Amino acid sequence: MLQNMISKQITLYSRPKGKPVLENFETKNIEIPEIKEDEILLEAMYFSVDPYMRGRMNDAKSYTAPFETGKPITGGVIARVLKSNAANFKENDIVTGNLPWQQHCIAIAAGILKIDTALAPASYYLGILGMPGLTAYFGLMYIGKPKNGETVVVSGAAGAVGLVVGQLAKINGCKVIGIAGSEEKATLLKNEFGFDEVINYKTTTDIKTAIANFCPGGVDVYYDNVGGEISDAVIANINFNARIVLCGQISLYNSTEIPMGPRIQPMLLTRSVLMQGFIISNYQTQFSQGSKYLAMLVQQNKLKYKETIVKGFNKLPAALLGLFEGDNIGKMIVEA
Ligand code: NDP
Repeated sequence: MLQNMISKQITLYSRPKGKPVLENFETKNIEIPEIKEDEILLEAMYFSVDPYMRGRMNDAKSYTAPFETGKPITGGVIARVLKSNAANFKENDIVTGNLPWQQHCIAIAAGILKIDTALAPASYYLGILGMPGLTAYFGLMYIGKPKNGETVVVSGAAGAVGLVVGQLAKINGCKVIGIAGSEEKATLLKNEFGFDEVINYKTTTDIKTAIANFCPGGVDVYYDNVGGEISDAVIANINFNARIVLCGQISLYNSTEIPMGPRIQPMLLTRSVLMQGFIISNYQTQFSQGSKYLAMLVQQNKLKYKETIVKGFNKLPAALLGLFEGDNIGKMIVEA
């Protein structure tokens, strides 16, 4: 029955210049062959779209290889096992892995992990219990090192990473100021996620003064998800001995020229500020400890979570592009 199955695949058709467009992607029909020894046949349930994918659309050397034109986009996927020729997997197991944008695919069992859907809904493993949650945890706790009573500012605050950062900072006894791009997001962060204050950067003309007003003693930890002028405004308020966690620079990912900002080094130097970038895979050996901690907080209802679920495999490109328009609250997920 499953032999010669026809499925759909989305490939990178062309590399974007500046902001990506739907025409950069192509949907194709493909044939799925029979599985061999140690292989499993998977049916996609949820796809993760993430800002780092924009970097992979460029033909540039980075910490992950570029997507190849004509080949499927790959990323985090949750899938159901339809058929298995591997000892560790059986039909109907729910699994995750770095997989192609395909409705069905064949995977080598060694690169696939089973997930526990009794602990949390399957899609959470692409968000709070997956890469974005771990990014929030390791970046904040290992670089930001928030202390009770300190002031933490997080940009991209209503996104997958930002939501977790803000709540972890509250759990650690900090005052938390979020920066996000709509009134709806600002209200939600304050009313449902316990943020002390939120700045809507799209309607606030002077972000530097807004930060100064909310952080009279200065900013002790800045968790930077966006870069650009928002970060310039936060760093202008940085406290002595502060830590700046360089997690993401989404405001610059579509730049076609080298962006210029203020020279911040004198400020960092005279205030003894630590600024450190990181890639989540730096902490790979500690993932299981981080996941267990986050899962415990979710189970205890100490960490709330939100997703924006876009329905339909063919909506994958639009959902990815939507990250750059602020379309998501919490983790952006596409349901196959
Ligand atoms: P989000 O869920 O936060 O989605 C992206 C959000 O960014 C949008 O919703 C939008 O919210 C905001 N945004 C988009 N364009 C701009 C802009 N020009 N200026 C300011 N904000 C903008 O994504 P993630 O939580 O997955 O990722 C957050 C950041 O963390 C990204 O920069 C990402 O690259 C980075 N990251 C880094 C990792 C690492 O290993 N270092 C791992 C994972 C993520 P709004 O409405 O507020 O504008």
